[in-house]
Amino acid sequence: MTAEKFNIAGVNFSSIHVRGSHDWVFVEVSDGDGHTGLAELAGPGAATEIARLTAEYAERLRLSPPTDESEVVSVLGLTVAQLEGDRKMATAVSALRTAIADAQSRRAGVSLTEFLGGEKTDSVKLYGNLNRSMLPDDDGPRDRSPEAFATAARRAVSLGYEVVKCAPFDEARAPFEEPGLPEAARAGVDRIAAVREAIGDDVALFVDCHSRFDVDSAVALEITLRESNVAWYEEAVDGIEHPDLMKRIRERATMDVAGAETGYGVAVFRRMIEGGVMDVVMPDVKFCGGAGEAVKIGRILESFAPRSVSMHSPSGPASQLASAHATAAFAYPSTGEPRPLEHAWGEAEWRPSVLEPPERIGGGSIYIPDGPGLGARLDPATVARRGRRWSL
Ligand SMILES: [Mg+2]
Repeated sequence: MTAEKFNIAGVNFSSIHVRGSHDWVFVEVSDGDGHTGLAELAGPGAATEIARLTAEYAERLRLSPPTDESEVVSVLGLTVAQLEGDRKMATAVSALRTAIADAQSRRAGVSLTEFLGGEKTDSVKLYGNLNRSMLPDDDGPRDRSPEAFATAARRAVSLGYEVVKCAPFDEARAPFEEPGLPEAARAGVDRIAAVREAIGDDVALFVDCHSRFDVDSAVALEITLRESNVAWYEEAVDGIEHPDLMKRIRERATMDVAGAETGYGVAVFRRMIEGGVMDVVMPDVKFCGGAGEAVKIGRILESFAPRSVSMHSPSGPASQLASAHATAAFAYPSTGEPRPLEHAWGEAEWRPSVLEPPERIGGGSIYIPDGPGLGARLDPATVARRGRRWSL
């Protein structure tokens, strides 16, 4: 039997303003038989330059249809090296691969988890990232005091999260004048201490450093963070750009070192784990090659390094749901309970209405709706009320 081609009949974009300077941008890809797949575009230029690139790639795929999402890169004549080096291209390709996988699983009448080789799963455990709830909203900057961090952390625990993450080092930026723990990191350390005090001893605490440190300061900071029993030390430096530096930090660390949220393709994540650069890699469905590539990354890495993959997902509801399907597909049941998936809660209270059926997150889990593909689609009424829709 010849494999059936995926014929693109339509491509549409939508965006919804979230808060502050942040919008969610979506792409929908339809075949000629009414099956529509959904994905998100993110990063600078998502609604302009990246959307145009996505439309251009989609047109090339329309003229030369792939049989499967995994063929998108070769049909477009792109190389993994190009995609590793160009975030905008990686984002466009990832979105098309996810959207085509969603549409193809709808066509096949199975959930995206099953389409990607997993077993249908009702829910996936999440960890609660405080960051988005504390970024500027439409009224301007929010309180970033230790007390505000403590309040947000208590809220996360009340929402059911057993793991909480925050990024508290607003003031720090390498290089630093002094050796050891930089003065500029003190405010962040105080925020972490306040969060630990607020959540008690039973909730795990993850810390994201947004690549603000160098080796010496990162080693000193890690020692300080042990006092707050931090379990996860994320991106003290950019591990993809500086694997040698990240590896030196990891060799001195007692907590898990995590990172690589901007990587494309299984090879880069494999280099991180096989090279001893980090303990946990964080593929993002929006950049890593999409849901299919995320499952490949998870399966391959988890097979020789259990609990080495936790998807990065400070995302809108479409990518959140795609990430839940991917996590379910690579993690259950072969490798047991996966690491929790990220969720940046508290960004907008109307967020569930973006999808139909509405996104359901509660008790520290995301619930995967029944039905083929993602199990949910963009709600046209919410897009009409809060955003705009266009084609290119
Ligand atoms: Mg991060």
